[in-house]
Amino acid sequence: MVDDEPDAKELFRQNFRREIRKGVYVFDFAQSGMEALGLLEGEDAPEVILVLSDINMPGMTGVELLEQIKQKWPDIPVFMITAYGDATTEGTVREKGAENFLTKPVDFPALKEKLSELITESGV
Ligand SMILES: [Mg+2]
Repeated sequence: MVDDEPDAKELFRQNFRREIRKGVYVFDFAQSGMEALGLLEGEDAPEVILVLSDINMPGMTGVELLEQIKQKWPDIPVFMITAYGDATTEGTVREKGAENFLTKPVDFPALKEKLSELITESGV
């Protein structure tokens, strides 16, 4: 989960409280694209089944992060999240390989549904 807003981390922790407690999902949080890439490239890199990334971030944008991820790890699905959910942005990120496009405020039941589908499809 990549978002420059510190509150996003707590929001996800709260909404996935049960799943996190049960060990269904494990989240790693990064506050910038560079931090996310550092996590993915690190020696003790987690086994990432999905990257959820905000689009509007200072420094590397979510779209730039998406490009880097798809170049280096084409198999990792990426869901983009933005407060400005216009069709042009959605078209751009889908063209660049994003599997999903979500708008803020995040619809957590819908996100959980998409996550279940992803896991069922990939057999993780
Ligand atoms: Mg942001």
